[in-house]
Amino acid sequence: MKELIEKLAIEHDLADNEWQQLIEGKYDRTLLYARADEIRRQNYGTDVYIRGLIEISSYCRNDCLYCGIRRSNMHAERYRLSKEQILECCKTGYRLGFRTFVMQGGEDAYFTTEYVAEIVEEIKKRYPDCAVTLSLGEREKADYQIWYDAGADRYLLRHETAGRAHYGKLHPPELSYDHRMQCLYDLKDIGYQVGCGFMVESPYQTVDDLIADMRFLRKFQPHMVGIGPFIPHHDTPFAGSSQGSLEKTLTMVALIRLTLPKALIPSTTALGTIHPRGRELGLQAGANVVMPNLSPVSVRKQYSLYDNKICTGDEAAECIECMKRRVASVGYQTAVSRGDWCG
Ligand code: SAH
Repeated sequence: MKELIEKLAIEHDLADNEWQQLIEGKYDRTLLYARADEIRRQNYGTDVYIRGLIEISSYCRNDCLYCGIRRSNMHAERYRLSKEQILECCKTGYRLGFRTFVMQGGEDAYFTTEYVAEIVEEIKKRYPDCAVTLSLGEREKADYQIWYDAGADRYLLRHETAGRAHYGKLHPPELSYDHRMQCLYDLKDIGYQVGCGFMVESPYQTVDDLIADMRFLRKFQPHMVGIGPFIPHHDTPFAGSSQGSLEKTLTMVALIRLTLPKALIPSTTALGTIHPRGRELGLQAGANVVMPNLSPVSVRKQYSLYDNKICTGDEAAECIECMKRRVASVGYQTAVSRGDWCG
């Protein structure tokens, strides 16, 4: 596999059968992870960027089959944060060294375009040295433009899967693959640093879907790529499906690093949920970002996308301390920095 790993590191793409070998072949992953780590160090040194995640709403108008806060989950507890609560999270976060705030949530009509713009403006006014990232789902280009003009720097919108048929099996008919992809192109066109991404081993995913994901990344050239294992949620149609594996997720992290050497790649909470040292292993396989939770502890458990989510009981201060120790334990260090794309 050494030759294939080198080929990918140089050409950033492979033939179908070569992708397939690297993705599902039986081989020792040590070399793959080490090569990915080397490329990450060439671009970003040993810095790990931290993003403060603020989960602003668990209301969602969508009904994605995998997600615990889908609208038809009548058992989901719903909450939304006020502008004051969000600003309070930022205040705590700034003191703790965060220089990026990520506002993520379900698609909640309460957060109108204007209201979100107002919050973004206020954060940027109070913390001009910070980046604001939004992750609020699909909107029209005009809305994304308003948020960008208000000061938002980045947008995270995972494409979820680049396989069109697969997309249809994970989502209700009213959600469209084309619209989600269109959103990503609109965001890039406006000038955002854009993140896409997918779940690893979500129900019905085939190796061809993963190859399509890699080809899409290569074509779209996102600044950020967020991936994590699929983890079932007990109140969804996929309750009985099995969760994504550690090895497959780490393999995909490393392959993304080889395909997009400069990408910002988070070692996700989902990875930490399926293995006690999942996030550390993600960093060692090429990831260079972590996203500790800044949401008020009182609502943490209600932002329940999947079962057994970690870090739902700790205050932000404990979370960041724990994260710093974890990052240091594998030879990297967290940076007090916006952590922009290095391209
Ligand atoms: N509404 C926003 C934010 C979605 S939540 C949006 O549409 O972008 C962030 C991500 O969590 C999703 O994009 C999805 O990839 C992931 N996610 C949702 N349910 C999950 C599950 N059961 N297992 C693993 N990841 C999940």
